[in-house]
Amino acid sequence: MDDVLVVGGSFAGLSAALQLGRARRKVTVLDTGLSRNRYAASAHNILGHDGAAPAELLAAARRQVEAYPTVQFVQGCATTVAGAADDFTVGTADGEALSARRLILSYGIVDEMPDVPGFAEAWGKTVIHCPYCHGYEVAGRRWGLLYSSPLSLHAPALYGDWTDDITLILDGNPIPDAERHKLERRGVRVLDGKLAAIHQEGGQISGITLEDGTELGLDALYAHPRNHPSADLHAQLGLETETTPTGIMVVAGERQATSREGVFAAGDLTSPIHSVNSATHAGSAAAMGAQHSMLV
Ligand SMILES: Cc1cc2nc3c(=O)[nH]c(=O)nc-3n(C[C@H](O)[C@H](O)[C@H](O)COP(=O)(O)OP(=O)(O)OC[C@H]3O[C@@H](n4cnc5c(N)ncnc54)[C@H](O)[C@@H]3O)c2cc1C
Repeated sequence: MDDVLVVGGSFAGLSAALQLGRARRKVTVLDTGLSRNRYAASAHNILGHDGAAPAELLAAARRQVEAYPTVQFVQGCATTVAGAADDFTVGTADGEALSARRLILSYGIVDEMPDVPGFAEAWGKTVIHCPYCHGYEVAGRRWGLLYSSPLSLHAPALYGDWTDDITLILDGNPIPDAERHKLERRGVRVLDGKLAAIHQEGGQISGITLEDGTELGLDALYAHPRNHPSADLHAQLGLETETTPTGIMVVAGERQATSREGVFAAGDLTSPIHSVNSATHAGSAAAMGAQHSMLV
């Protein structure tokens, strides 16, 4: 039996496996190979790797982790989990069963693309979610922000560090007059209508059309679609979760321990802040948590 089974082998999972491999623990990484940022050509804010392609970063990380003889990789999709600390079994869609004393859940989240023409095509290119990740490349250009929650009302203050040209598209959501006036005083245009289409070519947007016929030229559209965990092992295990403005996250405490003994979780699955740095940090903290919990 393995010491640790890591479910999800992207930034959080590989970071956990690296740390455990260096501690000479027996680890299996089960992964389907679909990192959340695979839609973007480059990843930013990663010290020493700013602008690298996500797939290249992960391939290099995987090569390094694979070099540790106690770590093995299994390509497959985790679908079931049973057991308890010291004897968990995870079943895969291919019918394989993998057993381990500890689990690290790092299977991330899936963004739910709204059914708006052009949205999915431009996602990660010029329909983006994070100015720290992809704002610099479109600084000073025409930015739109698609309303997703009351937090959207605060984003323009932040975005002002990148551009003065910001339009908030309310997408049919009413907001208090006081908030509208505050935004307008800041120079933010506010459009009430629902988004009907995004005009794009090869992922590069040129503008949007609202259902009421309003047209707006844009170079970038910020959006925070709802998301859900990529698998439901946390639900099968009955782990405590918390609601976020766009979905849910698994609650993880010190060294990424979840509400169930022997189960640790890391990455976007456990954090309202979604970044490669946070995920890799949480992955190594989870590895430490899992290792320490096995010490006698
Ligand atoms: C378009 C876009 C661009 C981004 N750009 C940046 C950026 O420039 N800089 C930055 O810091 N952050 C960026 N992010 C955020 C970053 O991608 C995430 O924070 C990061 O990928 C989280 O890592 P993770 O390991 O938690 O999850 P993920 O990277 O999502 O990895 C989850 C892994 O689990 C696997 N998996 C899922 N389900 C199962 C299952 N059932 N069984 C087995 N394996 C499974 C998946 O295949 C995947 O390999 C971006 C996000 C998006 C959406």
